Amino acid sequence: MNFVFLGMPGAGKGTQAKIISKKYNIPHISTGDILREAVANKTELGIQAKKYMDEGALVPDELVVSLVKERIIQPDCEKGFILDGFPRNLEQAKILEEMLEEIKKTLDAVFFFSLDEEVVVKRLTARRVCSNCGAVYNMIYNPPKVEGVCDICGGRLITRDDDKEETVRNRLRTYNKDTAPLIDYYKKKGLLYTIDASLSVNDVTKEIERHIKK
Ligand code: ADP
Ligand code: AMP
Repeated sequence: MNFVFLGMPGAGKGTQAKIISKKYNIPHISTGDILREAVANKTELGIQAKKYMDEGALVPDELVVSLVKERIIQPDCEKGFILDGFPRNLEQAKILEEMLEEIKKTLDAVFFFSLDEEVVVKRLTARRVCSNCGAVYNMIYNPPKVEGVCDICGGRLITRDDDKEETVRNRLRTYNKDTAPLIDYYKKKGLLYTIDASLSVNDVTKEIERHIKK
């Protein structure tokens, strides 16, 4: 069960990856989460990555590729993994293929979360994340029980730095230019499964599982 979740920022990849990861007991590998942690810890990687993330640009391939390489050889990836936010351009997709070949693995499916750009902007500007456990909420679609407080751990909810509208627009430009070509790339390889990401969280999960069970 080696999966890639592909789609615009805000399409719901992280939300679904957390659910599927738990249900199928395979790790959720989010390059965005790993990079944000590096930024918070002010590591060398974080210091280098921050300026790109703040602009809504892609972090250079060499930085991202090495962290994925280290992660997917860990024993907990033996049964499978969900890559969320990687690959993000054709170069990364090719490197991923080589990486997997080296460890004698292949991708089983690429789930493409299809959603209108305006819905994405609306979702992202209303997104809140827990500063403690990383749980994801939405002020419109999935609000916490108590405003500003995480239902799960009681942590403080924050708005991601790159979720302000101006940065969101830049991230969408980056997506359209660099990441969208991956849709065709994986379609040609027969690996692409398109998911209607405008459905409710539950129904999107059902769609993904329908394909997994096949
Ligand atoms: P991504 O990981 O693709 O950037 P997220 O999973 O963080 O996206 O979701 C973006 C925002 O949209 C979050 O605030 C999340 O709570 C909300 N969201 C996710 N899935 C849905 C859905 N099916 N319907 C409505 N809102 C959703
Ligand atoms: P995400 O959490 O997936 O929305 O990613 C947040 C930010 O991290 C992106 O806007 C990029 O700056 C950076 N990032 C995450 N994944 C990658 C990747 N695979 N390649 C380059 N940059 C990435």
